[in-house]
Amino acid sequence: TEKLAGRDPEIWGAIQKELGRQRNEIELIASENIVSAAVLEAQGSVMTNKYAEGYPGRRYYGGCQYVDIAENLAIERACELFECEFANVQPNSGSQANQGVYTALLQPGDTILGMSLDAGGHLTHGARPNQSGKWFNAVQYGVRKQDSQIDYDQIQQLATEHRPKMLIAGGSAIPRIIDFARMREIADSVGALLLVDMAHFAGLVAAGIYPSPFPHAHVATTTTHKTLRGPRGGMILTNDADISKKVNSAIFPGIQGGPLMHVIAGKAVAFGEALRPEFKTYQEQVVANARALADQLMKGGLDIVTGGTDSHLMLVDLRPKAVKGNATEKALNRAHITTNKNGIPFDPEKPTVTSGIRLGTPAGTTRGFGEEEFRQVGDWIVEVVDGLAANGEDSNGEVEAKVRAEVEALCERFPLYPTL
Ligand code: PLP
Repeated sequence: TEKLAGRDPEIWGAIQKELGRQRNEIELIASENIVSAAVLEAQGSVMTNKYAEGYPGRRYYGGCQYVDIAENLAIERACELFECEFANVQPNSGSQANQGVYTALLQPGDTILGMSLDAGGHLTHGARPNQSGKWFNAVQYGVRKQDSQIDYDQIQQLATEHRPKMLIAGGSAIPRIIDFARMREIADSVGALLLVDMAHFAGLVAAGIYPSPFPHAHVATTTTHKTLRGPRGGMILTNDADISKKVNSAIFPGIQGGPLMHVIAGKAVAFGEALRPEFKTYQEQVVANARALADQLMKGGLDIVTGGTDSHLMLVDLRPKAVKGNATEKALNRAHITTNKNGIPFDPEKPTVTSGIRLGTPAGTTRGFGEEEFRQVGDWIVEVVDGLAANGEDSNGEVEAKVRAEVEALCERFPLYPTL
């Protein structure tokens, strides 16, 4: 039999279980979303068979006429979405998009200035264990002690002192809007290039409800699978013709070989979806839901880092309830609410423990949850956390089981992938 179920029952079984998990759990991981059946179909297509090293119209292999259609559409739609001149849609991931930009515009040993992981930055912005922290002289900025917001004065000071070749804006746990004009001013003051990594909030930018990195950024990168709601992958955007040439050479043949044409087809489908008016309505709901969830959690006695959110994500400071991020993640998981532990700024706990969890609304909103549902989710989180504080990690089963039953009932009201 050709069907997966008969061919490889073990893998088919794992996929069915994963589908069941996604159907029966509330997904609050801020970097995740739920792609459309159309995106899944493109990704699961015969385009996976095709080698297409090079770029549309200039490939190193024959037979590329149809994958060229897909890549050209992905590029055109990306440029329309982000109102820019140039897109490279080939990066296999957000990390490779950043690596591609570094390969294009930097030399080993150059100084870069990015946000530290502890403060909300990403590994690829110069963290020690990452290649960006090993191959470059990485200087890191953080947030202000008093309000946990990006410390632009510190960025200016560090830029003046270290004269980086590149300044990097963006990160993985920044709930508030980044001031790109200010970042460009700082970059210009020392002749640095500004890279905006909009991986987390690209969907909000596409919908026009978060400021665009352009015209401030010399170059922007993103993942395509977070708020943008496409297949897992990356992308590089710019308006600078010279940078665009360098970026193309850096991705191929610099750091990648044959592009994932099935994923690029999926990116084109997702960008087409993002150009429709419904996508703006969706992203507005994502932000409204995040505000409702943050508000409900604060009403329940939890702290929200920076006192709220302007985007799709928030960082919950668990210290008022005296529980840790790792134990909370596990307890919520048992209640079928999926989150991740996350360090908060100036966290006294180790990264494997943490004082916080990070929550996001993109996946739940795709599912159809509105503010009412997210307020309910907030109440459940408080219930589980209060239970954890009162009963301890090993004796909170009753509370978790009660919440789990209610979570599953809500999930049934918002079915996922009904045709699969
Ligand atoms: N940049 C930022 C800001 C991110 O949050 C992420 C994802 O976690 C990445 C880059 C890396 O993306 P990927 O996981 O696709 O390599």
